[in-house]
Amino acid sequence: MAAQTKQSDTAREQTKAEQDVDQVRQRAVRDQQRLDSGAVTSPKDLENLQREIASLAKRQSDLEDVVLEVMERVESVQERVTELTERVSSVQSKVDDATARRDAAFEEIDGEVATVTKEREVIAGTIPADLLGLYDKLREQQGGIGAAKLHQRTCQGCRQELSITDINEIRAAAPDTVVRCENCRRILVRTAESGL
Ligand SMILES: [Zn+2]
Repeated sequence: MAAQTKQSDTAREQTKAEQDVDQVRQRAVRDQQRLDSGAVTSPKDLENLQREIASLAKRQSDLEDVVLEVMERVESVQERVTELTERVSSVQSKVDDATARRDAAFEEIDGEVATVTKEREVIAGTIPADLLGLYDKLREQQGGIGAAKLHQRTCQGCRQELSITDINEIRAAAPDTVVRCENCRRILVRTAESGL
């Protein structure tokens, strides 16, 4: 945007410089016409007129140099604008690409959520209501995890190793008894690796 502003500023500067040249040129043309018309007869006036024409020619040449210098700057700022425009479009295509990949990932995640939610509903339907209620309550209290694996005598929910007394109690409990961690109160899931 800064380069584009500079571009339009420089273009305006060029127009102004060209107008300056035009003004001087027109005045020189008028002077030359007066000189050629023969209307000026006094030698002093003729001399003044000729001097002015010469001075206007010098002025015009100086102003044309200014125009050339401005045109060079216009060209360089145009190149800069072109280069930056290309970079903008390259970055934009990267953004578009990333957006498309993000959207595709969202879609995939949404699909996964729908599948997992359905699977959970099916499983939840097979769990006794009181146990499901306990689980849901613990899940809410314990940061989303209501039940944890008991692995090598350690609760995988709070990572605390259970005391010998607790382990003995769990070992003695019937397979369908709901056992819980003494530390975090989560439901403990017993497996062959529980260390019982
Ligand atoms: Zn625990």
